[in-house]
Formats: sequence, C-alpha cells, structure tokens
Amino acid sequence: MTTHNIVSVSGGKDSTATLLVAIALETPNLQAVFADTGNEHDQTYQYLEYLEQATGVTITRVRADFSRQIAGKRKFIETKWREQGIEDAVVLAALDVLQPTGNPFLDLCLWKGRFPSRKAQFCTMELKRDPMLEQVIMPLMGNGDMLISWQGVRADESLNRRYLPECDEVGGGLFNYRPILKWDIPAVFEAHRYMGIRPNPLYSQDMGRVGCMPCINCRKEELRAIDLRFPEVIDRIDRWERLVKQASKRGAATFFAGSNAKHPNGSIAKMTALEVMEIANIRQAVEWSKTARGGIQYDLMIATDATACSSAYGLCESSWEPVNVAEAA
Ligand code: SF4
Repeated sequence: MTTHNIVSVSGGKDSTATLLVAIALETPNLQAVFADTGNEHDQTYQYLEYLEQATGVTITRVRADFSRQIAGKRKFIETKWREQGIEDAVVLAALDVLQPTGNPFLDLCLWKGRFPSRKAQFCTMELKRDPMLEQVIMPLMGNGDMLISWQGVRADESLNRRYLPECDEVGGGLFNYRPILKWDIPAVFEAHRYMGIRPNPLYSQDMGRVGCMPCINCRKEELRAIDLRFPEVIDRIDRWERLVKQASKRGAATFFAGSNAKHPNGSIAKMTALEVMEIANIRQAVEWSKTARGGIQYDLMIATDATACSSAYGLCESSWEPVNVAEAA
C-alpha cells in the first residue's frame, strides 16, 4: 500500500507553511496542487514558480473547464429562453457572449449568468474543490492506497475552523490532515523564515489575504487597498461585469451586490437591471470603499466578519488583516 501526501497550495502563507512542514518532515510521495481560479494576481503565479524552484517540489496546476456547461447553456437559451418570451435582443446578446474563454472564474460566471455571492458561494466548490477531487484525488483512489490531504487551516482564523480536528477520515482511504491548526500568524511566517522561503510579496503590499483578487467576500478595506495598489484588477472586473451581464437573463450582473444589497432607495431586487448596474457595479463599490459610511450598503462586504471564505478545507484563505510581514516574522 502506498501513502500519497497531497498539499493544497494557494500561494498564501498558511498553505505555504503547510508545504514547508511536509518538506521539513521529509514526507514521502509528496505532491503539491494549486487550483487556479483564473482570478489570481500575477504575483501569485510568479510566487508559485519561485516556490517550486526554492523547494524543489513541483506544484501541479489544476483548472476547472466549463466548456460543456456553456454548450448546454447555449442550447437552453436557444430553446427555453425563447419559449419563456425573453426578448430576442437579450437571447442574441447572451448567445454572442457565451463562448468559453478558458478563464475558469469568468467561464463559471458566464455559465451561471451571475457572480457567486456569500449566500451562493459556488466558486470554492466549482473552481477549487471539484477540480482537485476530479483531477488529483479521485484518480489516486480505489487502489487500496492511503491519501492524506494536507490542509493549511488555522483554528484562530474563523469559527468554522476553530473546532476542526487535526486529522479526520473522509473514507475510501482519504484522510484530512491539518498540521498548522494550532499555529498563530507569527508562527506561520517563522516557518517561512526558518526554511529560507520568502512569503508571497502581496503580503507586503497591504494584502492580508492571498487568493482570488478580489474575492467575492472581500472587505471594504481590502477593496480600497486593491484599487490603490492594483487598479488593473478593478478594470478587469469591470470588463467581466459587462460580459456576465450580457449572459444574464436579467441583463444585470455585479461582482459584489447580490440580491441582498440595499440602497437608500430600497432593495436592489426591486430595481430594473439598468438601475442595478448603475448603482452597484465594481466602480461604485470602489467609490464606496473610500467612504467611512453611507451610500449603498454592500452587505456582503460591509460585514466585517473575516470568516466568509472559511471553507473547512482551507481552499480559500479566510482572514483579512493587513500583516506586517517584518514584524510577524
Ligand atoms: S477566494 Fe473568494 S472568490 Fe475565490 S473561490 Fe474562494 S470564496 Fe470564491
């Protein structure tokens, strides 16, 4: 029987520390895997290359592919939307934009005709969990081998993670292992320092969380910092909003504001698609991020709860606190 050790790497500090623990323990059959959402910062891609070179561990990249789902959606639109009496212009616009782009995050949103939200957080599952399961874990299962999934989660990150066990059995020979569960942030950076590995440079550029940029759960301060440091990210989301809007039956799709967003004029659910796009698009969200109070309430973001991405599997880094890397290490 072979034991396979698989570390989920996101480019963030916790998953990197987990990989470093596995290396320090001279773990046999070690495999690092990165689920590429297509919504990562370039510096994260570069960091993964650095990490591979510095540690000597190859990082397998997995990406979701939604070509099949998009083809199915096209058929659905051609038949059902027309039967439902959707205007021809809307049908044609959707068909025009519904082509796979090869970017998993954008293709997922085109297929769904919307962006994920805190209440419908399908992104973690579709972009991270499923590709990892389908492309790495499942092909290794069923041979009587043992699979250990190393997860870089820490108990102090969120309530969901606080009571996780250090190790549990999923079944079919698959186990979850969380070696840094009891660590605090300084310990995470200390592991980097001890192993001679520099942290993702985004941490020293006002980013307290590494993962999707932006994450649909990103906080007000984080959005403000992204706009200041990386305005091209906001430009990209602006482009994506226009594309996803075109694929939406409602004719509206905004990155942050789900149907729960409120505005001084009332719930956006009661507004026309155009009204929604005008008040709740990414540019408006950025303007709002610069304010102390008032304006539209992006309740998905205004909640200062940092646990929104707290998947128990550690697939999305959850905490967002600006980190002073020098001090932490
Ligand atoms: S980081 Fe945020 S946007 Fe990206 S997959 Fe995780 S929850 Fe979704």
